[in-house]
Amino acid sequence: GGRGLTKEQELDCETKNKMPRLDLEPKLDYKDVLIRPKRSTLRSRAQVDLTRTFTFRNSQRTWTGVPIVAANMDTVGTFEMAVALGSQQLVTCIHKHYTFQDWENFASKHSEILPSVAVSAGTSQTDLGLATRVLHAFPAIQFVCLDVANGYSEHFVEAVKAVRKAHPTHVVIAGNVVTGEMTEELILAGADIIKVGIGPGSVCTTRRQTGVGYPQLSAVLDCADAAHGLNGHVIADGGCVCPGDVAKGFGAGADFVMLGGMLAGHDESGGETIEENGKLFKQFYGMSSSTAMTKHVGGVAEYRASEGKTVKVPFRGAVSGTVKEIMGGIRSTCTYVGASRLKELSKRTTFIRVTQQINEVFG
Ligand code: 5GP
Repeated sequence: GGRGLTKEQELDCETKNKMPRLDLEPKLDYKDVLIRPKRSTLRSRAQVDLTRTFTFRNSQRTWTGVPIVAANMDTVGTFEMAVALGSQQLVTCIHKHYTFQDWENFASKHSEILPSVAVSAGTSQTDLGLATRVLHAFPAIQFVCLDVANGYSEHFVEAVKAVRKAHPTHVVIAGNVVTGEMTEELILAGADIIKVGIGPGSVCTTRRQTGVGYPQLSAVLDCADAAHGLNGHVIADGGCVCPGDVAKGFGAGADFVMLGGMLAGHDESGGETIEENGKLFKQFYGMSSSTAMTKHVGGVAEYRASEGKTVKVPFRGAVSGTVKEIMGGIRSTCTYVGASRLKELSKRTTFIRVTQQINEVFG
């Protein structure tokens, strides 16, 4: 350190004689707000353009597409999902449990989808080794997603630096964090896109297990502001339960919104199909749930700060129907605030704090 202290001594100084702090500024979730409509000249939602073009800060790579991303969970970030979403210009973060052989098979059949997928990895040598091999073998892949339980560790920052050095022109996604200062640190370490969200996920139990987290709307507002100040980008990851939440994520400044649960339960999703009383369900689970751990023996125990849940969601057929519904919802949000392009949505968004957002009288 600057004062000739060891790391341990510096940490000691930081914490000596300190009291716990309390931030009394309210922090909000998607459910706590609505978007206020605004006067507009738009005639129809069909006029709204949901594609965006970004040039990323560190890789200097330019990408055009619809910035909705399938999560790198083995029930969601499948090759089948990538084919369905990629054909509509959406992105899929492929989960990290496919083998190199699986990637070869996929790439040989669907080379056109490669530009819209990310290869995912934690910080283990096994993960990074496989990701590197995949990136070298298939240069059409532009994104690499470095995903750890706790994006706040120095070890993770070092990993981001190493990946940036090894892959100077790939788009590096890194997370997860929920505060501006760590967003900045990861961008300065070489990440292009910061993944935001600790604990909002539908099958996540981190908040229950650890007491750690941050309401997602406020996290996105803070991190997006920090990232944009450095020409970086953010993904709002987790906590969306309906198309309106996806729109709120974009309204709060997210460049991309990542979905797990909303994309579960489809033909293209992973997980077992279950039949109960003549009704079909699909299994969905967190990447650190015991289901995931049993499946990927030994490999994923530290993926997230705590366990995730296993649930069953009603089977919903092809994901294209759900995607249409989500995109239709966001287009409609844009028309309500007079944004002719998704790019303008956050500039035209005023959130209002509400105590009730939905009338529940009929269920
Ligand atoms: P959802 O869209 O389902 O609300 O959230 C998806 C996100 O939840 C994922 O992208 C990932 O960040 C997070 N997630 C997935 N599995 C787990 C888990 O087992 N534990 C925790 N804490 N988070 C998880």
